[in-house]
Amino acid sequence: MMRPGSARFRLVVAIAVTAIGLAACSTGGDDEAVPTRSPATTTATTSASGSSTASSTPRSSTTRSSSAPTGSVPGDCTAGNCPALPVPTSSLMQGQITAGNAQQKVPAYLSSVLDDLDGTWGPWFDELGWGNPDPGRVLVASGETFRSSCTDTDDRDTVVESDTPNAFFCPVDVAADGSGQRVEGSVILPVETFVGIWTGTFLVQGPLDQIGGFQGEFTAATVVAHEYGHAVVDRIAQAGGLGPRSEPRGENAELIADCLAGNWAATVLKRHQLSIADITQAVALLQKIADPAPGQGHGTATQRIGAISLGFFGPSLGQGQPVNCFTKYWPEVFG
Ligand SMILES: [Zn+2]
Repeated sequence: MMRPGSARFRLVVAIAVTAIGLAACSTGGDDEAVPTRSPATTTATTSASGSSTASSTPRSSTTRSSSAPTGSVPGDCTAGNCPALPVPTSSLMQGQITAGNAQQKVPAYLSSVLDDLDGTWGPWFDELGWGNPDPGRVLVASGETFRSSCTDTDDRDTVVESDTPNAFFCPVDVAADGSGQRVEGSVILPVETFVGIWTGTFLVQGPLDQIGGFQGEFTAATVVAHEYGHAVVDRIAQAGGLGPRSEPRGENAELIADCLAGNWAATVLKRHQLSIADITQAVALLQKIADPAPGQGHGTATQRIGAISLGFFGPSLGQGQPVNCFTKYWPEVFG
């Protein structure tokens, strides 16, 4: 059972929570791709020119607590009683990119996906009285570099370039959310990498790599939704005053993000904006970036496809809901 307590938004120091790069599993153990939460005293600056506006501050100095619900009794999400994820009335941006418009269209598309995710998850958090889930947004444009406070396995800040083959959620990076409010906990999306995901050139090293056919805008959207899934978990943990050790463990930390991405994708299907080809492409990407064997951090292809399918269809080929993901991948809190 999950009921947020009064200790929400408390200072958390020196924690080791995984902040995730979706593509990390495909890069063969690139240690830069597996950042961990830094001590709250860690500071960082943005070295980018242009739009990467995040900087890091200790958790206690952020404005996050201003979004905490006040004067209301937080609701419960239990295995037997948890709100369904609402289906927004908004539409996702559509359209093909070309070499000439990619630099403008891909960032616009990523922002539209984040808007849609905010519009989907926000009302769900509202219904439970759990505050505002919107993460900060860092889109690393071509030629820019972003220095994240989430450290790599060598305890160095993670430096993200526009073509870094990864995407991240970092719980201690501060950036403006969709409404312009600076919040702690940000998604970091390297634009050139997403151009590659969209066009099918990401991680393609030869003709055989192109057989998977994982290109497509919705594949890029799925990656964003996965990172957003990490933000959802982080927001819930904070709303509930849970310590980092209560967050999903091991591969469940990744699989729950896949599952929550499936929840959101199901709302896109409900809005008649998702084709079988879109789904096939997204699944092909998951196969591409899955771990070759269990126990390596992100899950095998079978595990990852099972997770996004559970999020998408639920346990009985209906519409998957957050509670399906929580009970399966976060049993310590929701089981
Ligand atoms: Zn992840």
